[in-house]
Amino acid sequence: MLLSSVGRSSLRLRAAPRESYIEISNYIRGRRTGLLSTVRNRPQQFGQFHAQQRLYEQPHIDSSRQPFLEQYKNAVEFPRATYDFRTFLSEASLGQEVVLHGYLGNRADLSKKLSFVRLTDPTMRHNIQIVASAKSGAFEKLKSIATNSPVAVRGIVQQKKGSKSERDAPDTEKIEAWEISLEDIHALNDFPKDIIMTSETVFPPEQRYLHLRTDRDLREALRFRAQVRNICKEELDQSQPPFVEIETPLLFKSTPEGAREFLVPTRRRGMAYALPQSPQQYKQILMASGIPRYYQFARCFRDEDLRADRQPEFTQLDLEMSFATGEDVMTTIEGVIRKLWSTLMKEPVPSGPFRRMSYQEAMRRYGSDKPDTRIGMEISPIDYLLPVDLISKITPLMDPIVEVFKFEGNDNDPKETQRFITEFLDSPAGAPFNNNPEGGPGIFIYDAKKPLCGLQPFGFEAAERIEDMLEPDHGDLIVLQARKRAPFSGGSTPMGDLRRALHTASVEKGFKPAATGFDFFWVVDFPLFSPSTDAEPGQGGAAGISSTHHPFTAPKTAADVDMLLTDPTQVVADHYDLVVNGVELGGGSRRIHDAKVQEFILRDILKMPPERLADFSHLLEALRAGCPPHAGIALGFDRLVAVMLGKESVRDVIAFPKTGKGEDPMVKAPTPMTEESLETYHLRLRDE
Ligand code: ASP
Repeated sequence: MLLSSVGRSSLRLRAAPRESYIEISNYIRGRRTGLLSTVRNRPQQFGQFHAQQRLYEQPHIDSSRQPFLEQYKNAVEFPRATYDFRTFLSEASLGQEVVLHGYLGNRADLSKKLSFVRLTDPTMRHNIQIVASAKSGAFEKLKSIATNSPVAVRGIVQQKKGSKSERDAPDTEKIEAWEISLEDIHALNDFPKDIIMTSETVFPPEQRYLHLRTDRDLREALRFRAQVRNICKEELDQSQPPFVEIETPLLFKSTPEGAREFLVPTRRRGMAYALPQSPQQYKQILMASGIPRYYQFARCFRDEDLRADRQPEFTQLDLEMSFATGEDVMTTIEGVIRKLWSTLMKEPVPSGPFRRMSYQEAMRRYGSDKPDTRIGMEISPIDYLLPVDLISKITPLMDPIVEVFKFEGNDNDPKETQRFITEFLDSPAGAPFNNNPEGGPGIFIYDAKKPLCGLQPFGFEAAERIEDMLEPDHGDLIVLQARKRAPFSGGSTPMGDLRRALHTASVEKGFKPAATGFDFFWVVDFPLFSPSTDAEPGQGGAAGISSTHHPFTAPKTAADVDMLLTDPTQVVADHYDLVVNGVELGGGSRRIHDAKVQEFILRDILKMPPERLADFSHLLEALRAGCPPHAGIALGFDRLVAVMLGKESVRDVIAFPKTGKGEDPMVKAPTPMTEESLETYHLRLRDE
């Protein structure tokens, strides 16, 4: 394909104004340094931009000499690319004239008359070499364009004579087999001298765009995320009956569903929307509306503790099915996971159906409701074996439960184990365990060279029983931990946390290899209610209990329904969490589809005040209108992508994540409310 005449003529235009632009831009930079101190690779202050604008606005600048406008006009009329890079690489032929877009790389001047420069394509996945000789009119033009500037290049395709070192170069550096002999080049924007950008530069979150631009891995993660989304969509669209993708409102209302909400004040005095913590209520109402299967990639907003790698806004793959139970939902999700693994992952496709583990079993064996089952270290109760004086040494609690697990050492070397565990307990990661008011961990190194192999404090009999039970090897750790004798509640026990933290530290320190593979399973049979805590707003009821999942989750069996009247704390929920490798990928439940039962739970079990109960009247009305039984789930989409890519943090799969403080340092959100906006929303800030 040949360059269009528009492209050619615009390429031939305007080399001259550029020099004057550089003069002006140097002048501005000079002024700027006088106005504000510039720090390299620090985000530009707002003031800098304004300073620049103010400068342009100053009347002494002759409006006929505003070269940035000339340069901009040049960019407005930039030539179309004749090819994207991929098509170019497969279809271009020798001697052909082409126009390509991309970013200019570093230039190597081989002589005064010959330069090489790399052009990186707009996807930043391919590089091609541009050869410029002084014979070409574009030679000087090329030299005036800064590295990293976006450009349009016109040239003739020729075969590249690749050197061995280039052929062996890493992927990101690889240059393709064709090269372009430069005919013309068109700068589409400048790249400023005050930004130093190499592939090694680490940019702060304020400059996320530069981080994205230099971090191929991060850009690939965003591409991968889009693929994951497409495959989920494909799988759900194709099921029978198909799921219907439906958007539900983001301007919702405040309801005590469980998490703390973000309010959106309106101009109507005293009136506010709330952003949805999930589309839960709308999707249930869809089930009452004759939509049999719904899904959505839903943005959710929760104003909660962000320590555990959470974001105040995040994405869920949210779905709901009518005339269905939890079994149908679990089968559907297993299908989605299998499809994702078979399409995008190298690891074996998880064979189904995924196994089930009750909440009680997960907490008992692993001290966690989302255990990483790949790492061993199963927990067992041991207090019945221990001498009283040993128990009193590890806990101030009377009649505690004491549990034990074995942590395998390395190379049967007790000294290595000793070094590792001492370092761990002295590190910040160890602090919460040492400072546990119920007693720190009791740690013993199994050492065949010591009396009773280092288990002397257990006494002869208990030591022998422990050996039978745990079969320790020379250099292994035996870890004890006490806790109150009380039913499990919440997501983990200190022993479960210790198990996890020890494993993480051992991998970080290179003491143990990281666990591999994916072990999917469902955690089921959660308690329907848990004791209320200060950390979670719950439903604000007066009963001292809150819904473990959310207040719309159904009791599991008829016997559980009966137990609502006798002992609600014993009721088992029809709630299921999908867990893989210590990560809760998502959770869902069968819902209460009967309005009277739903109202009974809210009013009589949770003891919600009438005005908060009234917040749910829309849902109760919809259930009352002959709503069919239904069940659903939401997968944390950010987390799913992070798990698939083996990323530690969801921030690595989100284009513009918020910090641990819930801030976006790039756009500087949130911002203080101005007097004007306070007035608009009829608000006044309370004196502290
Ligand atoms: N709405 C629930 C949540 O966000 C998921 C569900 O029950 O479908 O956790």
